Amino acid sequence: MKDYDVIIKGGLVFDGRGGHGRKANVGTMCPSYRVTNDEQHLTRGRANSLRLAITGQLGKDAFTSEEMYQTMALCVSCKGCKRECPTGVDMAKMKIEFLYHYHRQHGLSVRDRLIAYLPRYAPKLKHFSFLLNLRDQIPGVAKLSEILLGFSSRRRLPRWRRDHFKPFIEEALIDAGAQEVVLLVDTFNRCFESENANAALAVLTAAGYHVICPTPADFGRPLCCGRTFFSAGLLDEAKVEAQRMIESLKPYVERGVAIVGLEPSCLLSLRDEYISLLPGPESSALAGCAFLLEEFLAREHKAGRLRLSLKPIAAKQALLHGHCHQKAFAAMSAIEQVLSLIPELEVQTIDSSCCGMAGSFGYEAEHYEISMRMGELSLFPAVREADSETLIVADGTSCRSQIQHGTGREAIHVARVLQMALA
Ligand code: SF4
Repeated sequence: MKDYDVIIKGGLVFDGRGGHGRKANVGTMCPSYRVTNDEQHLTRGRANSLRLAITGQLGKDAFTSEEMYQTMALCVSCKGCKRECPTGVDMAKMKIEFLYHYHRQHGLSVRDRLIAYLPRYAPKLKHFSFLLNLRDQIPGVAKLSEILLGFSSRRRLPRWRRDHFKPFIEEALIDAGAQEVVLLVDTFNRCFESENANAALAVLTAAGYHVICPTPADFGRPLCCGRTFFSAGLLDEAKVEAQRMIESLKPYVERGVAIVGLEPSCLLSLRDEYISLLPGPESSALAGCAFLLEEFLAREHKAGRLRLSLKPIAAKQALLHGHCHQKAFAAMSAIEQVLSLIPELEVQTIDSSCCGMAGSFGYEAEHYEISMRMGELSLFPAVREADSETLIVADGTSCRSQIQHGTGREAIHVARVLQMALA
């Protein structure tokens, strides 16, 4: 994958100067090192292993060896190193490149395949939700799924639903000349938590925007950012999704319309992985138009264009957990600003690292324990300390699952908090 080899080469400049990859008790430092205290699971350790393997110093085929797989296994792709390392090493991207080569040589497990291809089959399975949910209802089936597929039986899988997001936009109510906004709904919010997409639609509409839910250029399956393919190292498939996305959104990007998304890891891939995978003016233009919902609203507010009338809500305090990619892309201040637009709401951000779920990581049987230990570092204790009236806010779908599993508290997307406050 020639296009992507630049990532590995970029990673080789990392020298661990200043020990930033090893500092302790800091918000987003490498979470796998924080819970293992093992140098192998430190950003610097991983980068050095990769460098030695690529330059042939660990012997033939070391780069795609089982040992290298284990070195990379606990990297949860949080991009904390990208933000905190002085040289901006992005181990998450290096892991993608590594998995691309590793899976080409060793193949993909059924579990990895099921996770990676979820966006392709999830929209088709809504009529089988009842059957699919039996995994967590019939005693023994979860255990069987652990033995056969490797999904931890100690955790429920996301609940399948029939009520997928179906945009309902009353064109007649749109003001002539209203500013257009594209609402890009990812697979998770489309198929598993459609209330978030409905809330975003309601908020943007209430603010007077002309919301467009884009149709794929090929009129086929829903648009997908390719995140699950990136995570599995399936770069050829990710490229297909990225090209579809770029082509489908091109008419809007050319008009400078904002592309607004809800799931940080999905939307931010348009600003990050797409640029590496498909460098050029089209991906750069798309990146320049891509915003998380809160980033878009904060930008509009700053420009004096936001016409969003908000009233106090029942909760007076909100405890905010940032998704790793929100932190890595400096998007936390935007969500804090937007929540503070709600009258009488006091917002407190948890000084948390990765929640430990990290996409599919926490669902994997062999990673369950470590995933929970990551949650216990600071996130779970902070949520447990919050009183029952406090709203727990988290934009990441896997963060919300982890918070629910680890503390029993429901966390909600910022779109739903804003919807509650609509005057
Ligand atoms: S991406 Fe996160 S888990 Fe992976 S090496 Fe960097 S800081 Fe550690």
